Amino acid sequence: MEIQLSTFMMVTGYRIEVPAYESRQLRWKIITASDGNITALREIETGTGDMIMNAQEIMNREDFKRCAAFHGHVCPGLSIGYRAARAAMAWLAERRSEDEEIVAVVETDACSADAVQVLTGCTFGKGNFIYKDHGKMVLTLLSRKTGQGVRVALRPEAFSPDAEHTALIRKVMAGEASEAERTRFEELHLKRTRDLLEAPTEALFNLTPAETPMPAKARIEPSALCARCGEPTMPSKMETVDGRQICRGCL
Ligand SMILES: [Zn+2]
Ligand SMILES: [Zn+2]
Repeated sequence: MEIQLSTFMMVTGYRIEVPAYESRQLRWKIITASDGNITALREIETGTGDMIMNAQEIMNREDFKRCAAFHGHVCPGLSIGYRAARAAMAWLAERRSEDEEIVAVVETDACSADAVQVLTGCTFGKGNFIYKDHGKMVLTLLSRKTGQGVRVALRPEAFSPDAEHTALIRKVMAGEASEAERTRFEELHLKRTRDLLEAPTEALFNLTPAETPMPAKARIEPSALCARCGEPTMPSKMETVDGRQICRGCL
């Protein structure tokens, strides 16, 4: 497939921007004529690749800004979640879900989970964002429409910060960093955040077809009153104690 530059692209050197092209990410090869002029772009990979953009261009994107606003700060974990969610969305070639089109299963409640909620549209409140407390940066995205799913798992070598960064993280967390150390930490933290945005998808993640069975749709049931506290509770979540229905908070 060859696409004329004039149709919808801007080319700056070898960086290519494809405006308003959100959910699928493509790689392009520049085709040059014998006189050296660029004549066309050729799609060389579809699906899991990310656009060739630098970190600043990504951070200026509307979807990244929404992630940062929701999460409250920009950090390496947010970058990982942003990249994982985009890679998963590209795999599924799905649009943001309105209701329960997509189901996200995350295996950590760290920073990355916020980017996943913003980009996939799967949220706790809609019942299509499922948290498994495994302490792993693994995102499984399942499409209800097609029944297909993808598992995006962080590669072992992808996220480890260098020794200086690791030492500074400890000092900052313990409140023992000097002013200069804090400044250096912020510098390294931002560099890590940016590096992760620019890294090739295949260097960050292993993508495999998901083997997680489709989770059940959110259940709606009339509440019953807990026999101890009297608060309305989903009956399926209560336990029977001495013949009385008790909410889990009262056990
Ligand atoms: Zn964070
Ligand atoms: Zn109760």
